[in-house]
Amino acid sequence: MIPFSPPRIDDVICNEVVAALKSGWITTGPRTKSFEKKITEYCGNKNTLCLNSATAGLEIMLRWFGVGEGDEVILPAYTYSATANVIIHCGATPVFVDVNALDFNIDFNEIEKAITEKTKVIMPVDFGGMPCNYEAINKIVAAHKSKFKARTDIQKKLGRVLVLSDSAHSFGASVKGKKTGSLCDVSVFSFHAVKNLSTAEGGAVALNFEEPLFNNQLIYNDLCVKTLHGQNKDALAKTQKGNWKYDIVEAGYKCNMTDISAAIGLVELARYDSDTLLKRKHICDTYNSLLKADDRFELPVFKEGERISCYHLYPLRIKNISEQQRDAIIQEIFNSNVSVNVHFIPVPAMSFYKNMGYDVMNYKTTYDNFSREISLPVFYDLTSEQINTVISAVKEAVNTVCLKEA
Ligand SMILES: *Cc1c(COP(=O)(O)O)cnc(C)c1O
Repeated sequence: MIPFSPPRIDDVICNEVVAALKSGWITTGPRTKSFEKKITEYCGNKNTLCLNSATAGLEIMLRWFGVGEGDEVILPAYTYSATANVIIHCGATPVFVDVNALDFNIDFNEIEKAITEKTKVIMPVDFGGMPCNYEAINKIVAAHKSKFKARTDIQKKLGRVLVLSDSAHSFGASVKGKKTGSLCDVSVFSFHAVKNLSTAEGGAVALNFEEPLFNNQLIYNDLCVKTLHGQNKDALAKTQKGNWKYDIVEAGYKCNMTDISAAIGLVELARYDSDTLLKRKHICDTYNSLLKADDRFELPVFKEGERISCYHLYPLRIKNISEQQRDAIIQEIFNSNVSVNVHFIPVPAMSFYKNMGYDVMNYKTTYDNFSREISLPVFYDLTSEQINTVISAVKEAVNTVCLKEA
């Protein structure tokens, strides 16, 4: 069976994890702090906070911004449910909007239509690693300043809708040579096991607020407290001589990153551009070259103008098929011992959201993208032979399903 996206676990990773385990410090400590600094250098943002997941990072930023009951948060209907769930956690209302057919990302015209006086945050999603056009999104929030109703001090200071990017897929992607993390107010990365850069579980909040209006270092300090019980000193600081006393300044959360995870992240980051991304690009380019002559397939885009993907997913679409045919094609592909996936079942199609009254059919392009989408395996150890096997399995499956019904 060709797997979908197993993590790359080699001796280098194992040795660094063992070194972390034997170092005497396994929770948040020197490795996490070093990983944060290196992410900041890599992305060109201002400060970075590592956490145990992207989900925790998204929620903490909504809470930091004071998002709550009566507020609206705009997000694409086509994303993983984590993006929407955190809005629910805060008591706010998710306002789903449709995406575009080109790259599966949020549709700007739909953002414009969805902004109201209740809108506090926009959460664009860099689907499959393709970064959104942040220049356009930043322009939209600037243009709607007069509508924004600030309630908290932080909201007053920003004076407009916050752009909180779900960059779970897009670590290493860029627009006009600038990396994600440095393209809007805040971007949140995921280092979950299936993501491009994995720490088993993990995430990072890339702070990039305009200075000197905001002091990103102070926001970072504040977030450290919020993500560790509301405790004014972390475990490492408390080990300093005579520094045992601590206070709880708020009822904080608990979602810090461990140094064991950071050990994996440091290895992955050091070889990310020179190795990981090159391999992923090679796989995606090879899939494209093997499929492009066959006009039944709609190939994913990895570069559009000055936006460049980090090749997280290979979201293939098949032309003129129904959702049922897509499902049957997937079954056939699995029968050839190839694992594929669908990214994503749109959030409004999920039971919880359906029960709230959302209907996926209100998001036409989202449904159309979803109903014809199959994500092919992309992972570091995928061989050329396996790439050929995947493509043969896909073509045969489409032949079987579509010819049977023709
Ligand atoms: C994976 C993913 C998340 C959640 O990341 P975690 O680190 O698992 O919390 C959020 N949004 C999208 C689009 C994702 O794919």
